[in-house]
Amino acid sequence: VWNNCLKIIKDIVEWQHYKTWFEPIKPVDIKEQVLMIQVPSQFFFEYLEEHYVNLLAKTLKRELGKEARLEYRIMVDSGNGKNGSMDVPASNAKIYSNNEMDFPLVINNPVKNPFVIPGLKKMQIDPQLNPIYTFDAFIEGDCNRVARRAGKTVAEKPGANSFNPLVIYGGVGLGKTHLVQGIGNDVKRLHPNKVVLYVSSEKFINQFQDHSRNNAINDFIHFYQLIDVLIIDDVQFFSRAEKSQDAFFAIFNHLHQSGKQLVLTSDKPPKDLDGMQERLLSRFRWGLSADLQVPDYETRIEILERKMKNDGLDMPKEVVKYVAYNISSNVRELEGALISLLAQSSLNKRDIDLELAKKVLRNFVKTSSKEITIEAIQKMVCEYFDVPYEKLLHKTRKREIVQARQITMYLAKAFTKNSLKTIGEHFGGRDHTTVIHSCQTVKDLMDTDSLFRENVMELTQKVQLAAM
Ligand code: ADP
Ligand code: MG
Repeated sequence: VWNNCLKIIKDIVEWQHYKTWFEPIKPVDIKEQVLMIQVPSQFFFEYLEEHYVNLLAKTLKRELGKEARLEYRIMVDSGNGKNGSMDVPASNAKIYSNNEMDFPLVINNPVKNPFVIPGLKKMQIDPQLNPIYTFDAFIEGDCNRVARRAGKTVAEKPGANSFNPLVIYGGVGLGKTHLVQGIGNDVKRLHPNKVVLYVSSEKFINQFQDHSRNNAINDFIHFYQLIDVLIIDDVQFFSRAEKSQDAFFAIFNHLHQSGKQLVLTSDKPPKDLDGMQERLLSRFRWGLSADLQVPDYETRIEILERKMKNDGLDMPKEVVKYVAYNISSNVRELEGALISLLAQSSLNKRDIDLELAKKVLRNFVKTSSKEITIEAIQKMVCEYFDVPYEKLLHKTRKREIVQARQITMYLAKAFTKNSLKTIGEHFGGRDHTTVIHSCQTVKDLMDTDSLFRENVMELTQKVQLAAM
């Protein structure tokens, strides 16, 4: 049965993905219409559930009929060297038209689960942590020192420190999720009996709304009150969910009073969280808020080098410096650039050198920002100088219009990838020498005429913003 499924899957998913996610799966058991497959890790299981559960369900139904169900056996490294396994049903129950309300987070299978201490009925809650996000891999720099150190303290003494709640805030891609998952992973490592749960605020809100529809809010709140270290990512999304805030408030109070740890992240400082109840904001102030900033050049180099070391990669120092220097917005972009570079190098079977880096980064910047069109620039300039669009295109000798046209060509040359010829064509069929001449005139005028320079600078800013 499984082999037949694989045949179908192989045709559908990309080869690389097939090799990574499907080859390691072992079918272990089949009873009537229930197939059990064994997967190497929790992470693996979650990845399959997230990305392939529909595909798996469909193929399985083809083989086993409408009532087909899938179960997983997850091989777990229990940390003491011994491996165990636990069995869980495919959590995405809706696919199997099973509308029972469930907590997908709870793996409550005391008989088969090797981690339940006999005689102690303890609920097993999957912490929902990605093991790759460790503290160790989180590079420290001036940009994150306070947040990282506070996180370390929290992980060592969860609940018993003055950073409760610990609120980590900062822009996208600066490491909020990594840092708080690192805290969670460290708590599990240092205090294996503590119940840790990582949840995004969106997931929390969805669960809450499900339970609220089913008149089961109390169950929801009780579930969360079982947790020793509760990590909620991206709390800014609570601002649109008044009722969820009430539930969160109740949970927060209960956990805080019982000496349990709360760790929260947000994309802005708590005081700027619009739409958040004041009583919640005041509780956020009980602990510590620490921000993550854009890493400086040295830290960016270190992050790149660590990443390469982890993945067993090597590239010349000058390339590392080049990437770190040019990608300064956030860490996610930095990693993205590194991945593109590796992909290009393996695709073209050539070593990574500065030349390749330059090429790839050019593409990278291009794909990460919007491509602005000549027309859009023309509109902006017309608006700015209050010049009718037609006049910009056609022969007019009026000085203001000539200058507006020249500036537009200059900006089109600077901010689009169009050839001089194409740019000329957009101005009523002028040729490329006119464009060159215009660009030169603009540069000269910027040197000599300060009002002109100001105008061009202001327009440049507008175009840059539009291209972001
Ligand atoms: P956020 O949640 O703030 O948007 P993430 O935690 O998802 O950001 O981080 C984006 C990527 O950058 C992740 O792959 C993460 O591992 C990496 N990263 C961020 N900060 C660091 C750091 N200080 N050291 C190493 N990797 C980092
Ligand atoms: Mg995040």
